[in-house]
Amino acid sequence: MSRPSPRSFLQRLSDGPMVGAEGYVFELERRGYIKAGPYVPEVILDDPGALRQLHSEFLRAGADVMVALTYYAHRRKLKDVGREGQLEELNRQAVRIANEIATEGGALVAGNICNTWSYDPADPVASGKVVRAQYLEQLGWAVEEGVDFVIAETNDFVGEALIGLEVCQELGLPALVTFASVQPETTYDGYGYVQACKMLADAGAAVVGLNCSRGPATMLPLLEQIRAAVDVPVAAQPVPYRTTPAIPAFESLESPAGRAFPIALEPFALTRFEMAGFAGAAARLGAGYIGVCCGGAPHHVRAMAEELGRRPPASRYSPALELHPVLGEPSPAKALMGDWAARQD
Ligand SMILES: [Zn+2]
Repeated sequence: MSRPSPRSFLQRLSDGPMVGAEGYVFELERRGYIKAGPYVPEVILDDPGALRQLHSEFLRAGADVMVALTYYAHRRKLKDVGREGQLEELNRQAVRIANEIATEGGALVAGNICNTWSYDPADPVASGKVVRAQYLEQLGWAVEEGVDFVIAETNDFVGEALIGLEVCQELGLPALVTFASVQPETTYDGYGYVQACKMLADAGAAVVGLNCSRGPATMLPLLEQIRAAVDVPVAAQPVPYRTTPAIPAFESLESPAGRAFPIALEPFALTRFEMAGFAGAAARLGAGYIGVCCGGAPHHVRAMAEELGRRPPASRYSPALELHPVLGEPSPAKALMGDWAARQD
């Protein structure tokens, strides 16, 4: 075990925006290794090679962090699929695999916790104890296997996010804490998203921000307000889908065929160019950790990394349409990116 890395998470953040890559559960579901519905990452034990491959692809595409796939690998979820007895094995193996691949490219490793579905704002003390116990066991194993920091994400409640942060602090781990902004204005316990981020920053989170739920168009305006309200670095990991002011979160998107979330979202998918446009805009706003969430794939990450001035290993095969006998330049895709970027200004 060689964590924490010689150059720490906080030092890496001070070098300029870091590139994040998530959406492992969605992508591995599409590839046939995780069941939609429970969304428990059984792939960790059942098909570890498939998980290694996706980590490698995100690393090649420019991700600075390998996030251990312990999302929904907590006691409550494992019970749902009858694998509670494998909880420790699953968590340890996820962190080991993240470490194994991170080492190949000098990436950091993040432990990962998320909303537990156990928190009840009407009974915060008793339910908080249940949440806390789940985070403690997951992160205890993560520390033993070696992580640089923790991503505590898709939080719906400030109360639950604060418990996650406290557990990180007890274990001496820097925490990146993000909220899912499913509702238009507030968390499920009634705090505005800006206020929620400020509360977590004031409580000592190293990074605060938003992940999942919103696409770039509806995350950017909130991001700007969060950036102005806190002194710590801000994280932004949207979903690569076309959300709108009328429907700000992808959970509510509908196509003519009906509800799109979570497994019929393709009609709303954003291109790599649009996600690159987001990365540039987020960097100009001052975001310190920029990535993708559910629906994201390596081609998005590579385009975003390139927009931020990187040239990751996968850039060796970045498009060169001018070498195609017919397509040539200018490409419609580039024009599209121009339109989209212009609309954001
Ligand atoms: Zn997500």
